[in-house]
Amino acid sequence: MIHFNKSFRRWVLIVIAFISSFGLVIAAATPSPAIPWAELLLRSIQVIQLANLSDQQEVSIGQQINNQIIQQYKIVTDSALVNYVDEIGRRLVAQSDRPRLPFKFQVVADKNVNAFATMGGFVYVHTGLMKAADNEAQLASVIGHEIGHITGKHLANQLRQMSIIEGIATIAGVNRDRLVRVGVEYALRRPRSRQDELDADNRGLRMLTQSGYAPSAMPAFMQKLVTSASLPTFLSTHPAAPERVALLNQSIDPSRANVGAGLDGTAYKSRISSIP
Ligand SMILES: [Zn+2]
Repeated sequence: MIHFNKSFRRWVLIVIAFISSFGLVIAAATPSPAIPWAELLLRSIQVIQLANLSDQQEVSIGQQINNQIIQQYKIVTDSALVNYVDEIGRRLVAQSDRPRLPFKFQVVADKNVNAFATMGGFVYVHTGLMKAADNEAQLASVIGHEIGHITGKHLANQLRQMSIIEGIATIAGVNRDRLVRVGVEYALRRPRSRQDELDADNRGLRMLTQSGYAPSAMPAFMQKLVTSASLPTFLSTHPAAPERVALLNQSIDPSRANVGAGLDGTAYKSRISSIP
């Protein structure tokens, strides 16, 4: 293992960010006058700070994004239902690689089959998705996937990449309000990349299996969504589904596929019976 001293590593990062930011500016082909190199370098430093968010900073941005999201959606307060999702979420988080992050699982009263996550531990599951799942293991597979987006810092990295183009990182620092607005837009409407989807699937499948759920539930539920009559919202923000089903099936040992808990459909339906 090679050890660079801290300040050398910092400079390497600055140079890398500088080169990539220059690339992004070229790619954006902005017709406005060229941004001075010094300004560009300072923006890059802001971007590095975004890349090195502490857990506490990540939670704080996630909280601000959450404040916007709960104004746009009706959040379920039925404690039995919320506790049920929370219980599944906590069981999965314990097997994740960020078990100490303060996760918050919320149920959104919405018929659209969807679930999403932002950053700093905020996960949202629609009642429509809960009803579409056949059993607890299938619901857990989606919650695990969403936890995977957070432990993989996917939205945080997407925001970092966007922050130069969008003018979020400037000479004056990072514009929090714009960062939060773009965060909401990305979490709710922009599709994740294929690479992020595959990473969240890998992380989710690992958590699902280690929590004692039957791993077959993950590809089974995704396959059900792919073949459903109307395209679920979940698949428009979580692309590459057919390929993901195939890859998940490849990663599951066939002799262990149905070994585990959470496949009892009757028990599951009674736990979510309060959903209209
Ligand atoms: Zn996803």
